[in-house]
Formats: sequence, structure tokens, C-alpha cells
Amino acid sequence: MSYTDPLGLDYSATRAGNTINVYARVVLYGGKAASQYRAKQWETWAENAWNKDNPQYKNCDVNFDFEFVGDPDSGLYITADGFWRFREADNFVKVNPSANHRSNVTANWLGDWEYDATPGTVAHEAGHLLHLEDRYFETGGSMRGHEGAMMSSGDKIIQQYIDKIIERKGINCSCD
Ligand SMILES: [Zn+2]
Repeated sequence: MSYTDPLGLDYSATRAGNTINVYARVVLYGGKAASQYRAKQWETWAENAWNKDNPQYKNCDVNFDFEFVGDPDSGLYITADGFWRFREADNFVKVNPSANHRSNVTANWLGDWEYDATPGTVAHEAGHLLHLEDRYFETGGSMRGHEGAMMSSGDKIIQQYIDKIIERKGINCSCD
């Protein structure tokens, strides 16, 4: 099943030589917790998690480039920075000030994340912004092939995720 964001809110993938850059801009909103400090922290966590094993697609290196921006003055995504520009790679995440809020992403571009989300949660939710689905069961355990993987309860970036992210954008990287 595929879902197309009605507003074009998404991520982008572009190839230059033998490197594919996957880019997503993420605007944090919802009050003072949506600070630039938190934005840079979450950006670092997401990039470290997704790039840590030197991802590859066929003969290309893959680089995950998240740009997190804080917009603490906006209480709603429709007033958040960039929303009305309708750009390809924009996403919006409310920084939820309640403790024990369960972080989530709706429709692959609209997040509601706990302000004190762990690095692992930020990286998992960032996977949803790249249009990946959960691969664990609510009753516990991982779906087959996703044991220890990022979209289950682990941190491994398995090849299937990279392939899906890149192929969805029609990028090829054949032998040369
Ligand atoms: Zn999830």
C-alpha cells in the first residue's frame, strides 16, 4: 500500500555520481520545547543512526541528510515555517510537552513526538518520515526479517529499508 502526501510533504532522493543523498527537512513546532537546540540534537541523532553502517544502494554510497529546524513560536503545523511553500521534502513534528506521550507519525509527514524522546525513538520516527512502516507487533516481537531492526525495536538499518526509500524515488545506481 502506498500513500501519497496530498500536499507533497515528503523526502527527496538525488544522485550525484556514486552518492545518493536522501534529504528530509523537519520543522519542529509547538512551543518552547521546539527549540533550535533540540532540533540540532534530534538532527544529529537521526543522521548518526541512519548513516552509522555506511549505507549502500547497489554501487552507490547513501547519505541520509536530515535538516531539523525549530519553530517554537508556532503552535500549529499550518503556521509552522515553510508549510505553505509546498516543497517536496518538508515534514512537521509537534514537540509534545507531556511526559509519557507515545511518539508517532501520521501520513508519513506529520509527527507528534515526546519532548524527551530517546535517540532510538527519534531515529525510528525519522524512518516513518522516510515512508517506512512499523515492523513490530503490538503484542510484542518483530516481524520476520526485522529482528533488531530500526522499524522494529532495534537500531539496525537493514538493506530492505534503504532499497525501499531509494526505489520509491525512482533512483538507480547501476554498475559503472
Ligand atoms: Zn513506529
